[in-house]
Order: sequence, then C-alpha cells, then structure tokens
Amino acid sequence: MSLISSEVDFNAQGKHSGYIRLAHSVSRSAYGWLPVPVVSIKRGKGPKIVVMAGNHGDEYEGQVIVQTLINTLEADDIEGQLILLPMANFPAAQAGMRTSPLDQVNMNRTFPGDPQGSTTQVMAHFIETVVLLGADYFIDIHSGGQSLEYLPLAMANIEGDDAHQQRLKGMLDSLALTYTMLFGDDDQSWFSAAGAYRQGACAVTVELGGGGRVNSKYRAMFQSALLRFFSAVKLYSNPVEEMTQATQYVESRRGQQVFSYVNGLFEPLVSLGDSVEEGQLLAYIHHPETPLSKATEIFSSCAGSVICQRAMAPTQRGDCLFELVSPYDGQFL
Ligand SMILES: [Zn+2]
Repeated sequence: MSLISSEVDFNAQGKHSGYIRLAHSVSRSAYGWLPVPVVSIKRGKGPKIVVMAGNHGDEYEGQVIVQTLINTLEADDIEGQLILLPMANFPAAQAGMRTSPLDQVNMNRTFPGDPQGSTTQVMAHFIETVVLLGADYFIDIHSGGQSLEYLPLAMANIEGDDAHQQRLKGMLDSLALTYTMLFGDDDQSWFSAAGAYRQGACAVTVELGGGGRVNSKYRAMFQSALLRFFSAVKLYSNPVEEMTQATQYVESRRGQQVFSYVNGLFEPLVSLGDSVEEGQLLAYIHHPETPLSKATEIFSSCAGSVICQRAMAPTQRGDCLFELVSPYDGQFL
C-alpha cells in the first residue's frame, strides 16, 4: 500500500484538479489522508513546467499566484504541460508555519525526500520523482515568511552544460525580477530546485514579499512575469506584458547576511533597496527589559544593497536582520 498517490493523472490531456493523497493515519481518521491540492493542465506537445508554492507554509504570495494560475489558465491556452502545486507542504501551509506541525520538517531542507519517511519527506520524494519527472522547467515561489521581507529576487544555481545554462539564462531574463542571485558550486542538494535539476529541469527559486502578508504589487508583477516566461518557452501564445526592465545579476558574499548577537527589539535604519557602505549603522536593537541600558548598534561589515530585512521587532541572538547583495562578479555564459 502506497503512502502517497495522486487523484490527478499527470499523463491525461486537459485540465484536471484534485488532491495528492498523503496517508495520515490518526485517531480521528484511521484511514485518512492529507489533501495536497494539485492541478495539471496538458495539451499537445510543448514544455513541461512545474510551478509550486507553500513549500514553506508561512509564505503567502506564491500560494495566491499559483491559485490565480489555476483559476485563469485553461487547456486551450497552453501547448505543453503545467503542473501547479499551491500548497506543496500542505500541513505547514494550512497551519501558516514554515515547517510542518506534523513532523517539524522543513520541506526545502529535505529533498530528495524519503518514500518511507515522515509526511514531509514522503511528499518531497513524490514531488521529485513523480511531479517533476520529465519536467523542463521548475519554479518554486517563496517569500520572507513571517520573519523576513524580500524584494523580488530569482535565485539559481549555475549548473549543467552550456545548453542547460543557456536555457536557464533565458528563463531568468524573461522572468526579469528586480534581482537575480546566482550561486556557484554551493551544496544545495536538499533544496527543491536541486531535485528538479536531478530530473533535468532548469530550476529557479523565487523570493518576493513576506512579513506574513500578501504583497499585491509583487503578486501582480510576478503573475505577469510567469506569463512572459511561459510565452518565451512557447507554452503560452496569448499576448503578454512586455518587461519594463532587465534583471540585475547579483551575488551574496560572505558577511553580507547580518545577524543579531543580542536579544531585544529591532529598529531598522535602512530600507529594502537601499545601498549601504561598509561600517554604516544599519539598526538598533533596544533592551527595554534593562533600565538605563543603551541600544546595541548594528553596523554593516561590508557594502551592498539591501534585498531582505527582518519584518518583526522581537529579535534573538542568531536571527538574520539583513541580507545584502553585490553585483555578480563571476562567469555566467
Ligand atoms: Zn521559503
């Protein structure tokens, strides 16, 4: 008996919606299953594209974007296949938590998953080996979650032969998010994007918005970006919005993530998109629990542009406060 199966036949032509059934046997439901929503839209020959969100359950822009694709695209609109997963880690998304409350597993740290493992591991294995089987392109939409807020950012690993990298670059250029962060040979084998690459797909992880909200401007912007990309790879032939500006290729260097070493209340002095200098005062951490204590000053150890910052005031030692990026300095085609 399989722990997981899909009601939707991914080989069937047409638009089909239903659930991936993930076995979940508990006292209130001995033979029950978790309903992970999924839609397949397939027509004729063309690229297979998987778009997913809800990998982290407290990241909402992507869940709304994928749901909008589900509601607006019909089989007649496409040439190829689109598989849409709005709440990939369903228990986490339902609970509005980064990790699943059932097994505490962070889905994006558990690929390639385990068919005999915990619920999140079984789901990750199913995504990698069944949903992504034969996929040409993969997009996993994230945000900063409850704790962080991101400017629109695509992230990709430079990997594969020249033809693969050419396709990846075309994908990144047509998405044209404000920033595109490239990684070299970092070990990211547990990310969903690595699972997609193991299946031969060009894979992009996207960050946009966060703070436990839905940023409407980013949602609309990325909706257009996806249609532009679908059009560029000939999945979609209806008119699309032209891009207004090319993406900036960036990298995150050592020291460009700024962490707190104290507990307290975070007051940022810079905003998303600001350019900061080395040694610049970036934030205060206040300590109202200790009378007469002075705020801790947080300085930047290097220059860069702020693409991500903490969205909430309460802060503990070890929390990320900012992420800075620099123009990409390496070789990419
Ligand atoms: Zn995430």
